[in-house]
Amino acid sequence: MGRKFFVGGNWKCNGTTESVKKLVEVLNQGEVPSEDIVEVVVAPPFVFLPLIKSLLRSDFAVAAQNAWVKKGGAFTGEISAEQLVNLGIPWVILGHSERRALLNESNEFVGAKVAYALEQGLKVIPCVGETLEQREAGKTMDVITDQLKAIADKVEHWENVVLAYEPVWAIGTGKVATPDQAQEVHVDIRKWIAANVSEDVASQVRIIYGGSVNGGNANELAHQPDVDGFLVGGASLKPEFIDIIKAAE
Ligand code: PGA
Repeated sequence: MGRKFFVGGNWKCNGTTESVKKLVEVLNQGEVPSEDIVEVVVAPPFVFLPLIKSLLRSDFAVAAQNAWVKKGGAFTGEISAEQLVNLGIPWVILGHSERRALLNESNEFVGAKVAYALEQGLKVIPCVGETLEQREAGKTMDVITDQLKAIADKVEHWENVVLAYEPVWAIGTGKVATPDQAQEVHVDIRKWIAANVSEDVASQVRIIYGGSVNGGNANELAHQPDVDGFLVGGASLKPEFIDIIKAAE
């Protein structure tokens, strides 16, 4: 079976009650390919999760942008995986590069979060990717391998994982990876998974690209054989998110 195209919208720390309601109206009216062709997930800030879940069309799902690393309790300011499950949120993004960089989330910490979220029944979108400095030093795959290893060690049921390759230099910069650059890393990630997990998992796991994806560049990227979808930041807050979803066709 082929890999179903997957488009995630990462709203990051954006929006007010009014603006997210408007955005949902736009999404709900968008004409997109059927659920057999594309899986769409949007990740609002925690505070809007129940609202968005109640308003969003039923063929799109909702994701959180983070979850705590273990069972909830005395962890001020955190949101637990159990709480997300309790709200009926099926997905969570983990290890986004902004959290790795700004909140010092280590590979091990991200791996532990992936393990705990999966145990609680969430599906996860772990993010990996190199900085410009690391790319220029020829270390792209070394960095990604370390990130992947910490995640892969914790995964048993790969059908609950969608891996996001997001080069840090492409995020929010308008400097999208070229289709060849994205394809090259996606192939290398798949090869690593084939060698270190299994051939089956490597051929089935979805690897999505993130970093300055927009309505203008999505089609060409989507045609790359190993690009199985996108994780979209800035453009997921705009009507062009619908055009990006259409790139699945
Ligand atoms: P961007 O963000 O689309 O705004 O570059 C992507 C992401 O961080 O997931």
